[in-house]
Parts: sequence; structure tokens; C-alpha cells
Amino acid sequence: MLGLMQSQPLLISSLIDFADRHHGDAEIVSRRVEGDIHRYNWRGVATRARQVAHALDAMNLLFSDRVATLAWNGYRHLELYFGVSGSGRVLHTINPRLHPDQIAWIANHAEDQVLCFDMTFLPLVQAIHARCPGIRQYVALCDADKLPADTGVPNLVSYEAWIAGQPTTYEWPSFDENSASSMCYTSGTTGNPKAALYSHRSTILHAYAAALPDVMCLSARDSVLPVVPMFHVNAWGIPYSAALVGAKLVFPGPAMDGKSIYELVEAEKVNYAAGVPTVWQMLLGHLKPNKLRFSTLKRTVIGGSACPPAMIHAFRDEYGVEVLHAWGMTEMSPLGTLCTLKNKHLDMPEEEQMKIRLKQGRTFFGVDMKIVGDDGKELPWDGKTYGNLYVKGPWTVREYFKGEGGDPLVDGWFPTGDVATIDGDGYMQITDRSKDVIKSGGEWISSIDVENIAVAHPAVAMAACVGMPHPKWDERPIVAVVKKPGAEVTREELLKFYEGRIAKWQIPDDVVFVEAIPLGATGKMLKTRLREMLKDYRLP
Ligand code: ADP
Repeated sequence: MLGLMQSQPLLISSLIDFADRHHGDAEIVSRRVEGDIHRYNWRGVATRARQVAHALDAMNLLFSDRVATLAWNGYRHLELYFGVSGSGRVLHTINPRLHPDQIAWIANHAEDQVLCFDMTFLPLVQAIHARCPGIRQYVALCDADKLPADTGVPNLVSYEAWIAGQPTTYEWPSFDENSASSMCYTSGTTGNPKAALYSHRSTILHAYAAALPDVMCLSARDSVLPVVPMFHVNAWGIPYSAALVGAKLVFPGPAMDGKSIYELVEAEKVNYAAGVPTVWQMLLGHLKPNKLRFSTLKRTVIGGSACPPAMIHAFRDEYGVEVLHAWGMTEMSPLGTLCTLKNKHLDMPEEEQMKIRLKQGRTFFGVDMKIVGDDGKELPWDGKTYGNLYVKGPWTVREYFKGEGGDPLVDGWFPTGDVATIDGDGYMQITDRSKDVIKSGGEWISSIDVENIAVAHPAVAMAACVGMPHPKWDERPIVAVVKKPGAEVTREELLKFYEGRIAKWQIPDDVVFVEAIPLGATGKMLKTRLREMLKDYRLP
């Protein structure tokens, strides 16, 4: 016997309809590429998303055809999120920080037909268009009068001219909720990138889960600043969750420096922000010397790479901001775990609570996880035993776009490539990416632990730990360090700083001072590049 409730597919168009009807006047504020502030609301997003859908129909774009973006976090990008997917096409957000060759490769592999780009990326588009014959329409995300006449880019129109005159009403099509809605390529540190292809169903379920109190805890009372880019796993799904709850959204555009972010937080009474550690490093670096405080910011989600304890402490102790440490990946839409306490932790002393908050957190309904040994056997949840982290759930990939890389699953589980522990309460802690763990004398050293201690030193801005070949121990850790401007610390002082903070055999053998640590397209430390930089290095 079937239930007798209404059957309605879970579609992204229903999110924007909901936001329009029930939170139409909630604000959407964007710093534009031009530097000025643009302000409207969910009703405006919905109206213009419908115009986008008409513009795509006018091109005779078919169901599931791909529309790509090279764009910052901003209102036009948001309109594309809903107009493209809502009308049944697939939104392909490309990371503009990738190499142009890689961008051209990705656009061709995805078979993009339309490319919408912020004017910042005009030179990039000029460099690749000849290599992307499949793209039949270029749309510059700007006003009609801001588009230069002689760009050399074929079939180029300004976004405002593209949607102008299109009707503001549109009947969103209804279709199978398992249809593709958007796609994201992984950074592809090894080999060509592979794409995760999200569905309407996976996106809506993820948006629901993300809004839960133990996850991102989003509501109609929040003013949310996603600093995490909309080209990086859909800004962790925040645009969808914000529509689902009717939150105010504040977009930084290209201005991600500490000063600009701080000004936006204060001006728009932002109480909630999200981003990778490197961005918050810049913000904290701006606050301290200028003796600034937050008036409204209360919580920030930090993930994408391990958030150093020193950063969690700084936010909490000096600025009264709670850090929610999160872990996820492109293949998981991206949320996998988030760190919030349980009822039984509330009476614990502050230091004990802090030990939990430093972990990457626990899963929530919709994500299952386990750790397994190299023999594939499940390992205990004791907070000490580490193993390969496997996950599964309705917003985790089953297969990559075009079947690239073959079947990624092992008995229905997705191997994350991360090594982790899980404690008795289900809190997961990442030890390392499996390719970054340092194997010393048959034991593993967590490069994250070594880095976290270095950045707790007041003179250290950034640190990256890599293993170096060693005749006796296989590998020994060394730490590459960037000093804070004007700060001084010697190799010996830093090595001494490790004493008592980590087991003796885990203390790095050497400190190498560098100007900068190479960062990848999503702001993560690129250890492959660092190892290349250090190829002539020899252990002392
Ligand atoms: P990639 O950059 O490899 O293409 P993602 O951007 O999806 O892919 O990154 C996923 C990876 O980032 C995870 O597998 C994990 O190694 C790392 N990561 C994400 N969040 C955290 C975190 N909070 N702590 C440690 N590592 C993290």
C-alpha cells in the first residue's frame, strides 16, 4: 500500500519560488566587481532568474545542456544558480583560479554551451575562447554600457542586455528530481580533474541538512556572508540553504582582503560567515593591528582544510566568535561533518570542550562514515586508531561525470582519500590526506598536527609540513614556515617550541623559512608544489 501524501519532486525551482513567496523582502547585498554595493532581495533574484530561464529558452538550449560560470560571489551569479538549474539545464561553476589550459579542458569536457563571466575574467576568456568551439554564447556579467566594443570574444553579450525584455513570469518545468542540476570539477591535483554531477534531489536534501541546528544552523534571522566562493562546491550549498530558510545573503565579490570583509560584516550586520582558513588568516591579520572588534558576527564555519586550533582560539577568546569546524569534499556536495557539542558535553570544563571543537566533527542524518584499514576491515571508534575514511549517503557521488576514473565506490562506500580517527561519540578527526601522511619508522605522523603547532607560535603566519626521504626512518617531517611581517623566530626557537607539545619523535627534523607557501585554486596548501620547491633540499 502506498502512502497517500502528495508527490512533488524535489526541484531547485521550488527553492526560489519559496524564497520569493515567503521571504521576498529578505535582502541580497553584493559588492560588485566595479567596487560599489548592489542591494535588492529574494523577490528580485526570483524575478531575474525567471528572465534567465527565458534567455536560455530563446537560445533553444536543451534539457541538461551545460551553462558555465566564471564568477565571484554576487547577485547575478545567484540568479544563474536558480535560472539555469530551475529551467532544467546544468550549472557548471568553473574555478577561475585554475590554469587557463585546465579551464579550456574542463569547458570542453563538460561540453559547455554558454559561458557567463565576471569582467575580471575577460582576459581569461580571451585566452581560451578559440580552444572552446562548443561555447556558442558568451555572457559578460555586467551592464550593457560596461561592455567594451572590441573584446575579440565572439557571440558576446552583456548579461543585462541578455535578460532585458525577457518576461518576468515563467512556468518552471517539472521533471525527475534525480535529473542533473549542477556540476563541479575536483581540483585534480593528480591527473585530469573529474566532475561531481549533483542532482536536484541531492541538492535539496543537502540544503535541508545544512540548515539544521547541529549543522550550519541557518535561519530567517541570519545575515550570512559566504566568503567561500560560489565556484567552490556551490559555496558549500549556502545559496540553496539561504533560499530554503529565507536568510539575508551578503556577497563579497572579488574583494576578499581582510579590510573589505571586515567592512562588509559591520555594514551589513553579518552574524554568520563561512570560508577556508587562509581567508580568515587575512581577516585576523587585519583586525589585530587595527584593534578592531566585531559588533554582530557570532559564528563562522571554517573548513576546506584543517582549521588550526590557534585560529579557533583567536576567534573565540579575542573576538567572541564561535568557530564551527567543518569537513567535506566536492564529491559530497560538500558537507560531511560539522563540529558542534552534544548535550552531555555542556557541563564539561571549557578546555575539555575545546578538545572536541578542534576536531572536524560528527556527521548528521544523510552522511554515514567509517574508517577502514588497508585490508578493508572496519576499525574501532576509539579516537586513537586511524584509518581510511569512507562515506556514503544521498549527496555523495556514485560515479563521476562520463564515468571518468571508473567505479569509485568500494562496496557502496566512497573512499575519501583522507585518513582519520573517530571517537566513541562519533567525532571524526582528520589526520591527513592519505598522500600527505608522513611515514616514519613504521609509524604515521600527522602533518596537520605539526602545522597546527607551528602556527600557534606568535611569529608564524603559515606552515606546511612534508615528509623528506630518510635512509633509516623512510621519511622524516620538516616544516616550511612563512613568518608574519616584521616578526622574527629562529629555527632553534621553533624546534624548541615543539617540545612538550608533541611526541619527541614527531618533532620535525628541520625548519625551512620560505617567502610563501604555494596555494591551490581553492586556497589550500599545494604540497605537491612545495615538494617540487624543496627538491634540492637535504635533511640535516
Ligand atoms: P580537492 O581540493 O581535493 O579537489 P575538495 O575541495 O573537495 O577537493 O577538498 C576535499 C578535501 O579537503 C578533503 O578530502 C580533505 O582532505 C580536505 N579538507 C576539507 N575540510 C577539511 C578540514 N576541516 N580539515 C582537514 N582537511 C579538510
